[in-house]
Amino acid sequence: MSEWKKTQCSLCVLSCGMEMEIEDDKIINVRPDASSPRSHGYCCRKGRSVKRFQNNSDRLDYPLKRVGDHFERITWKQAFKEISEKANKILEEHGPRSCALVGGATPGSQAEMVFARSMMDAIGSQYQYNAIGIEFCGNWWSHGKIFGDQMHYLEPDDHNSEVLVFWGSNSYVAGQILNARTVIRSASQDPNRKVIVIDPRLSETARIADMHIMLKAGTDSLLLRAMIALIIKNGWQNQSYIDKYVKDYNVVKQWFENIDIEESIRVCGLSYKQVEEFCRILSTKKWGVHQDLGMFMGRHNTLNCYLLLTLAVITGVALMPGGCIVNDCVVSRGNNSDENDPKVWRTVETNKFPILGTYPSAVLAQEILSEKSERLRMIFCTASNPIRSYPDTNAMEKALRKLDLLVTVDVTMTETARISDYVLPVKSTYETYDFNAFQMNYPEVVAQIKHPVITKQIGERKEGGQIWIEMTKALGRMPHIPDSLDKAARRAVKENDYIIFLKSFIPYAVKNIKQANLFTLIIGDVLGKYIGSPAKAIYWAAMITSPISGSGMVERAGIKVKGKHPIMEKIPKIKDICVMDSAYQTVISKPEGAVIGMVDPDTMIDRHIHHKDKKIHLYCDEINDYIKRITPEKEEEDLNKNNEFPMVLSLGKHSDYGVNLEMRNPATYKHRKPYKAEMHPDDAEKLGIKEGQEVKIITKGGTIKIPVELTWRTSPGYVLVPHHFGIEFNGKKIGEGANYLSTCEDIDEITGNPLLRHISCRIEKI
Ligand code: SF4
Repeated sequence: MSEWKKTQCSLCVLSCGMEMEIEDDKIINVRPDASSPRSHGYCCRKGRSVKRFQNNSDRLDYPLKRVGDHFERITWKQAFKEISEKANKILEEHGPRSCALVGGATPGSQAEMVFARSMMDAIGSQYQYNAIGIEFCGNWWSHGKIFGDQMHYLEPDDHNSEVLVFWGSNSYVAGQILNARTVIRSASQDPNRKVIVIDPRLSETARIADMHIMLKAGTDSLLLRAMIALIIKNGWQNQSYIDKYVKDYNVVKQWFENIDIEESIRVCGLSYKQVEEFCRILSTKKWGVHQDLGMFMGRHNTLNCYLLLTLAVITGVALMPGGCIVNDCVVSRGNNSDENDPKVWRTVETNKFPILGTYPSAVLAQEILSEKSERLRMIFCTASNPIRSYPDTNAMEKALRKLDLLVTVDVTMTETARISDYVLPVKSTYETYDFNAFQMNYPEVVAQIKHPVITKQIGERKEGGQIWIEMTKALGRMPHIPDSLDKAARRAVKENDYIIFLKSFIPYAVKNIKQANLFTLIIGDVLGKYIGSPAKAIYWAAMITSPISGSGMVERAGIKVKGKHPIMEKIPKIKDICVMDSAYQTVISKPEGAVIGMVDPDTMIDRHIHHKDKKIHLYCDEINDYIKRITPEKEEEDLNKNNEFPMVLSLGKHSDYGVNLEMRNPATYKHRKPYKAEMHPDDAEKLGIKEGQEVKIITKGGTIKIPVELTWRTSPGYVLVPHHFGIEFNGKKIGEGANYLSTCEDIDEITGNPLLRHISCRIEKI
């Protein structure tokens, strides 16, 4: 007898609400959840095949240890004992800088990550690498500089913007927006709204846009500099917004003087008339912008993001309803990283700094391959496959094999797991409680905790948080937990009143404040034991300390304190915690998720300018130096100087075929052939290449073989290759990993974010 259960899709950050039909503890069917306050019954083609992620013949069931060239099954006890002995020996000899955490930030494993991060705090290492360090470094760093906060970033007010701009973003296929296709189509069909796309390719989103600005690949920063110059020259800036909110406009204005606007637009491959019209629209309408990997991983990617935010500020749409808003986080994704704080580590070999606690992934291999004594020597890798997803596969393979200890925690035998010393099996997001820290709705604030839809214990898989708690204990780095805390946790769960636990935890926390970084492990262990899941316990702790606590948003959604602890509920700060405790109880009782907050648009700008003077800061030294080099002459010269590799390669073309590193089973895209490079017919003709023919793509990093698809949708000289191939499933491999073509050196000069969407290449006929 089957049963439908509510959960979320785990394949992208949108985490659409899903219902799954479960029979004999297997997912046999999935459908979008119409009752989801997050996605309201939407899901994409990828999401519909998510059962292949769970029911997968390559799933791991038991801890494994590498012995020679094969793995042997071991017990958890042996795994923790051996790993901790080896890890402690490395730490004693080389200190905490020898250790890094790699992974997390995947939609399917966010709860686990909180504990892994805490274990690193127990070890004393600041090093964490994950997907954020491939995509968001430039964008989040820019937000930190301009608004004083790296965590809250601008998104368009999708339903209310008069103009929706997609810059380097193909959201119609790539998602990024809840109910993406419905939202984009409805905006493009509305005569009072416009969709504008800036992309060197006629993407699926561009095809239904009102205006497509098909710029030359890699000229985004030049175009943005020219556009801002044109707006200021015409006096189209929003002066009243600038006067009220911006600290240093008159200084920054000089960045946009003395640039030849017409010549810049010509180098971008565009017509002056079209760009002028685009500027006029942005200066007169409420607009919001989705940017994606074309910007985040493009040439000058940090500057791209910085200038796009500058454009939003000078046209007066930043932090404004109908313009660019902030989706308030329910749970914190981390703290601002100040690279000028001497306590914040720099990487040893490449001198890179973290952004929101995460180091740029592109430098990981160099940090291991370094000859310096403080180099990385051991890695705890979780829910991540750096050997496929990080730049420069050749360097990454060499680096990971050089480590003294590589421990991988994953649901399946990935390429990285295959070369690890120990491989530990984790429960999937469908076998345990989990949550997604990315809140995507506006103005509603929606929270959801994923309940396990499969309850049977399969093999010896453990919940991720449990693995890291036990690893910390095995390392001998777990603080002593007093009996009083244990008793309070037991009583709190028995009486379903977690404020009882809080009463006991507050004095403990005050006394042990120096160990605050380890409170996650303590709460996950002691409360998780009685609640049945460290993830469920930590979600409560994350919610009661939520960034939205005390903002009035929760009360606006009608959530009130329960009245069980009248004295505590009168103390202002504690009252906020009690309100969030009520919000948690609401969420836990609704597996489809719940609206637990309502943004007050009128206070958004005050809440999200985090600089002490409550002003937007447009000036920073790094950009001041950089922007002067973005001239039409210099850009034209740089873009045309590579005779050996004259074409531009974009790695990671999005498709809706369900291709994804978490979806290793090729049955997901049966009857389709997504492993192909997209190329312009004029380029193919010059090289004598025919449709479907296999070619060699060659970069300074390496070579792959791939069939081509000829299409007028791309620009001449611009080639696109999909990610997520070169994966072995059931002993068979399809295609080659795109990151054999990228290198560690092709990174942004400020943040180290890779330039995966702009790699010089050439194509050869085979
Ligand atoms: S957009 Fe698709 S892949 Fe992303 S969460 Fe929704 S259903 Fe899953």
